[in-house]
Amino acid sequence: MSYTITLIPGDGIGPEIAEVTKECIESTGVKITWEEKTAGEAAIEKYGTPLPDEVIESVKKNKIALKGPITTPIGTGFRSVNVALRHALDLYACLRPCKSYEGVASPFKGIDLVLVRENTEDLYAGIEFRKGEAVTAELIDYLSKKSQRKIREDSGISIKPISISGTQKIVRFAFEYAKANRRKKVTAVHKANIMKFTDGLFLEVARQVAQEYPEVQFEDRIVDNLSMQLVMRPHEYDVLVLPNLYGDILSDLCAGLVGGLGVAPGGNIGETAAVFEATHGSAPKYKGMNKVNPAALILSGVMMLRYLGEKEAADRLEKAIAEVLREGKEVTYDLKPTRNDPSAVGTREMGQAIVRKLKK
Ligand code: NAD
Repeated sequence: MSYTITLIPGDGIGPEIAEVTKECIESTGVKITWEEKTAGEAAIEKYGTPLPDEVIESVKKNKIALKGPITTPIGTGFRSVNVALRHALDLYACLRPCKSYEGVASPFKGIDLVLVRENTEDLYAGIEFRKGEAVTAELIDYLSKKSQRKIREDSGISIKPISISGTQKIVRFAFEYAKANRRKKVTAVHKANIMKFTDGLFLEVARQVAQEYPEVQFEDRIVDNLSMQLVMRPHEYDVLVLPNLYGDILSDLCAGLVGGLGVAPGGNIGETAAVFEATHGSAPKYKGMNKVNPAALILSGVMMLRYLGEKEAADRLEKAIAEVLREGKEVTYDLKPTRNDPSAVGTREMGQAIVRKLKK
């Protein structure tokens, strides 16, 4: 079987980790034709937009993509390409496994958590009103009248929509994942005590959906409490299902539990397409230095192979990565005991070590 997959190298450290990931995936023997598409900084220079239509068209056609990180300017400029892509393709579920690998230093051992983050709603819906604009003043006036609460005139506003249908889809996804992967428990994460009509709705719908899956345990946790529990007793949790913002924040927290962003993979999955990418961003200060850890994107490639049904190739690639991590020799600076360890290898060299394990 041969596949055509859209490859979006991205910007910052994206192109270098994407190149290494491509080589590792090809070394499994799975036949892939890569359709490479430019998005991010390089696309702005070439097309005047960070997300040209042809990128979305390519993923729609191929139904699957591997993506490097893309920089989002803070506060000004273009909206996030990552968020726009997830919206355009309705990639409603963000799947982020956080698993301990031997050899990767971290405060805990034996962690095997999976975050299922809602990807299209919540404060990330992109509905925002800039401070000082006429439409914002109008909205402030309307809301102040309707809610009997004063909103300061010099406010900016971001809207947080959470729907029954969106929540049903993501919670079902979490339970289906739990069932298919023999997981025991799903925990819904929220702040329903404060945001009764959004997080409250999320919790109410999660409880209803949970009744369809009596074979999987269900519980809920308030997000602040869960943040503390995760850093004290992470082994008590299994699959977490979260609205968009909490999912984003706790993904990085859980990556920290297993040794950092260098080993945290992910996939954005919808009904008709899927885009696999690491949890980390474009780390611009390391751009072009052949320095950062490619493992998170390669592990995202492992997830992609599993999604394609290439289980045996996925298992072999994960085992090769795990061996390189366990040996701890040919690994990048972030996986060494100290940041300036002279024995750290570069991105390419770590990739080559993984390829050698695969070919053994
Ligand atoms: P970041 O994840 O890019 O980097 C934070 C720090 O984590 C880095 O300085 C580095 O020390 C470490 N790090 C990250 N990836 C690493 C790797 N592979 N190996 C070793 N160390 C690694 O987060 P940031 O600095 O907040 O964001 C930079 C840019 O990336 C921003 O523009 C942000 O919007 C964007 N971003 C994109 C995505 C995405 O494309 N999906 C995700 C998150 C952030």
